[in-house]
Amino acid sequence: MPDVATDLALTEVAAGVFELRLPIPFEDGLVNVFFFTDGREADLLDCGMNSEESLEAIRRALDHLGAPRLRRLVVTHIHPDHYGAAGALAGDGLADLYMHRLEVPLVHPRYVELEHLVEQVRTYLLVNGVPEEEADVLSNSQRALSQVVKPADAAVQLDGAEHIAMGQHVLRVEWTPGHSPGHVCLHEARSGLLFAGDHVLPELSPNIGLHPQSTPDPLHDYLQGLKRMAALEPALVLPAHGRPFSEVGLRVDALVSHHARRLDQILELVGDEEKSGWQVALDLWGPRENLYEKRLALQEGLAHLQALAVDGRVAKTVTPDAVRWRLT
Ligand SMILES: [Zn+2]
Repeated sequence: MPDVATDLALTEVAAGVFELRLPIPFEDGLVNVFFFTDGREADLLDCGMNSEESLEAIRRALDHLGAPRLRRLVVTHIHPDHYGAAGALAGDGLADLYMHRLEVPLVHPRYVELEHLVEQVRTYLLVNGVPEEEADVLSNSQRALSQVVKPADAAVQLDGAEHIAMGQHVLRVEWTPGHSPGHVCLHEARSGLLFAGDHVLPELSPNIGLHPQSTPDPLHDYLQGLKRMAALEPALVLPAHGRPFSEVGLRVDALVSHHARRLDQILELVGDEEKSGWQVALDLWGPRENLYEKRLALQEGLAHLQALAVDGRVAKTVTPDAVRWRLT
């Protein structure tokens, strides 16, 4: 293995697979991206945010790996910490970008042409019971994110179940919607490696939210994906946040029971009188100071309400002005 500079968080986590831990501007967490080397070329899974510090770390890592050229960039999903630097690394004369096709239509409204989505989110917040002042602030918070994302067009749009050569490995695309509609994990049966993105994290429960850019029933999607990933019985899970781990079955059981408990809690909060998603989220999590947390709480609460409605345990009514939930 080539010499690795001590200040570069680059580690060989499996044969020919190198994990680089990148900073996330505005947050104290780190995102893990993975290089796969093959001679003088390298492939990359996820790419961090579009910040000078992050891009410099990627360039230095490529240098240390003796791979001047990036051949493929695969992204697990288009959230800023996974896709942000895509436009600096992929595109004309640069790497080929691979992403799931359900992520493709999310990019433009989210990071390029924001006005329509800001308006759509504002309406979504209002019909779900968010007071107007807060809805204005929350719908506008989307604008800040577009600054750390430089989009690139996909050279390959994935459906799921493809095999992709990454360095000396051949990985199968596992479509795992829920956290994002086109989230993918990469799995290699031979080595037992599962690159899990945000789908299975060792410490956090990834945000599963119902919102204008989600799938219509993201919680059921997510739970089904968890069970499929557990059934693969990977030897080692390499997550996008936190440290690699084994025993995916235990982690999946913990995540599944976390959501089962939350579904029960929410069911108790929904009474015979109709409530908005915002009321349910406030009852469950209490008033939050942080606006971003408030929006996540609403989205997460709505994902659970929607799953309960799909299962026939809660009744959902809609008009142009309001979405309401009550016991069946
Ligand atoms: Zn994410």
